[in-house]
Amino acid sequence: MLRVAVVGSGPSGVYAAQTLVQQREVPGVRVDVLDRLPAPYGLVRYGVAPDHEKIKSLQGNLRTVLEDERIRFLGNVEVGGDRLPTERMLELYHAVVYCVGAARDRLLGIPGEELAGVRSATAFVAWYSGHPDAAGEDFDLSRVRSAVVVGAGNVAVDVTRMLARGEPELAPTDMPQPALGVLAGSGVRSVSMVARRGPSQGKFTTKELRELGTLPGVAVRVDPAELAIDPAYAGGPAAAAALPAVARRNLEVLRGWAEQDPGPAGGAGRRIALRFHLRPVELLGGPDGRVTGVRFERTAPDGRGGVTGTGVYEDVEAQLVLRSVGYRGVPLPGLPFDPATATVPHAAGRVVRAGRASVGEYVAGWIKRGPTGVIGTNRPCAKETASSLLQDAGSLARRDLPGDPLEALRAAGLRPVEWPGWLAIEAAEAELGHSLGRHSVKIPDWPGLLGAAAGTADRPPGDGVPVAGD
Ligand code: NAP
Repeated sequence: MLRVAVVGSGPSGVYAAQTLVQQREVPGVRVDVLDRLPAPYGLVRYGVAPDHEKIKSLQGNLRTVLEDERIRFLGNVEVGGDRLPTERMLELYHAVVYCVGAARDRLLGIPGEELAGVRSATAFVAWYSGHPDAAGEDFDLSRVRSAVVVGAGNVAVDVTRMLARGEPELAPTDMPQPALGVLAGSGVRSVSMVARRGPSQGKFTTKELRELGTLPGVAVRVDPAELAIDPAYAGGPAAAAALPAVARRNLEVLRGWAEQDPGPAGGAGRRIALRFHLRPVELLGGPDGRVTGVRFERTAPDGRGGVTGTGVYEDVEAQLVLRSVGYRGVPLPGLPFDPATATVPHAAGRVVRAGRASVGEYVAGWIKRGPTGVIGTNRPCAKETASSLLQDAGSLARRDLPGDPLEALRAAGLRPVEWPGWLAIEAAEAELGHSLGRHSVKIPDWPGLLGAAAGTADRPPGDGVPVAGD
């Protein structure tokens, strides 16, 4: 038997586990999928926006894999800490595949980042997704009229959309009750999503961009003058034809908005402004230490795909600024880390230590290739890693292991949440939703999740704040 640990139960981890058990060359592979959280599915549960139900339904596919009899889910197990260092993992398993993602946000590196009201999109996403590490976050939107989102990727589009949506669209989601209450009471009237480069260089995908124009009661604005700065737009159809298909389609969508009269904002009275060629240079604050706006410098194309400053500045009012400028990998103690790329050095998925492939250690997903691509991108990425592992299987399997790793984890003081524990969390979330007159609603904190997993959840209906301890 080849006993493998996959660390991380997001898409890359689950796809790696699936590839390992479903292949035929190496029989008898058994996989433990470990996760620091008591709940599986990684960013599909805690990153995909709650209103994106179709993408969220991928959880069903991941569930089928985790229910395979050759795979065992063990949540609430932190690898790389004192109790379970990476060296110990190599004693307990023949091979370990790290699929730990890229957990940290990136800073803008401009003055004013410490002002109250300047937050990362990552924190906002974690908060409305009910990530238990975000239980201490609070977002007071009641006094926010204007919000600025810095960045032009799909996360920026997600948070812009969530700020613009009304309660009727959010209530059917699994968003935690406290977050729903805050968004329902939001005073936000305008959201500006601001890109430092041009409209043909947005990182968002067309489907996500187009969706902004479908939000009930929300008017989308694009300034034709900002489109005109982009050579691919100003050059007309011939220049646009040379663009990659996604950029070409994005430009068409933006052109449509620029050409239409947005009219007054609809029922919710909200507007989204998509701004281009503005780079943030300073976050402006009031005497109370709260952000009041963002100073941008107008940029111009430099002819090489980048931009240069023009010395012309524009201040945009904001009581909330979300920086949405990408994720960053975090070093896992015991694993090598390249700070320049914020990834683990690897060769075809084999972890590289001091220039050599480390025996039995592998990576897949964002910690391997950086925070890029959509969920499906993880499939070929995980397959490459799994096939490297399977090539090494002959020599890896020769080593005797001490026995069932679960016993060793328990002996180390860990309290793994197994699949029935996760099912109990799911049942508790369904019950919580029922008590609130909603569909399933996420339990947003550690005591609540662990209490539900242990079958001891005890919560007053209505507030969504669990009281049960572990
Ligand atoms: P991203 O796609 O890398 O976008 C980051 C954005 O931040 C870019 O527009 C970038 O501009 C901008 N930026 C970076 N540094 C900046 C700075 N100092 N000042 C101003 N702007 C700056 O990252 P992401 O949006 O976090 O998304 C991460 C990954 O998750 C992506 O692969 C994304 O597609 C995926 N995702 C997908 C979905 C979906 O499919 N629905 C949803 C969410 C996330 P430049 O281009 O000029 O560098």
